[in-house]
Amino acid sequence: MSEVSVTKNAEGPAAAGDQLVVLDNVNKHFGALHVLQDIDLTIARGEVVVVIGPSGSGKSTLCRTINRLETIDSGSITIDGKPLPQEGRELARLRADVGMVFQSFNLFAHKTVLENVMLGQTKVRKTDKAAAEQKARALLDRVGVGTQADKYPAQLSGGQQQRVAIARALAMDPKVMLFDEPTSALDPEMINEVLDVMQQLARDGMTMVVVTHEMGFARSAANRVVFMADGRIIEEAEPNQFFNNPRSDRAKDFLSKIL
Ligand code: ADP
Ligand code: MG
Repeated sequence: MSEVSVTKNAEGPAAAGDQLVVLDNVNKHFGALHVLQDIDLTIARGEVVVVIGPSGSGKSTLCRTINRLETIDSGSITIDGKPLPQEGRELARLRADVGMVFQSFNLFAHKTVLENVMLGQTKVRKTDKAAAEQKARALLDRVGVGTQADKYPAQLSGGQQQRVAIARALAMDPKVMLFDEPTSALDPEMINEVLDVMQQLARDGMTMVVVTHEMGFARSAANRVVFMADGRIIEEAEPNQFFNNPRSDRAKDFLSKIL
């Protein structure tokens, strides 16, 4: 586990009422498996929420429902006051408001780093090419891979590729960024270079939902920790409170295994 020593988003979560993502009594099944059970979760603008829990507890499914890669069976999800529609152009636009970074970087192998970061801008946002390139270069600089712009993904290290994936998501000007175990596939020496970029994003005020096993990151960057098990949110607390004084037996058991 890596340690990162940085300060939290100085602003902290925005004032109550400024709710960016609201899940209200969300339920989802995969066949007989009730993978999300009565999920209520509200994320304020500028808030950083770290989601932890055992494998199979529904963390990835939760992320995937927020940008509608998965449908839900009941309940509702709203992003910035707008309900997530079922389909169509409205869905494409709302989905673009939600940036997602996966464990596997999912870059286009036959496009350069620069093209990867330009593509969504020109195709979805209809940005003109020159403006898209300028923005892509600025974002690649921001995540520390500006000199790699003309290479192909396979020529980069895993940590560099994941930073490109973050830049690509940011290029869409998302309102919220979802990270699903973004460092789990990385060699240990590359984990911090990705966490550092995420820390900086958090400090810059980005609203973030981060599924991670990096407890150092959770302690230093999260405004709130959400603990899931068996498709339910078992416990939510500010990180110090959660790590020092977990209330539920499930959380105590989980922490005793990973810390
Ligand atoms: P986590 O990310 O916490 O490990 P997931 O959300 O990936 O959990 O999975 C939760 C449960 O749902 C697991 O039991 C998993 O096997 C199951 N699951 C995930 N995706 C699918 C799917 N597309 N079809 C059927 N079952 C799935
Ligand atoms: Mg997962």
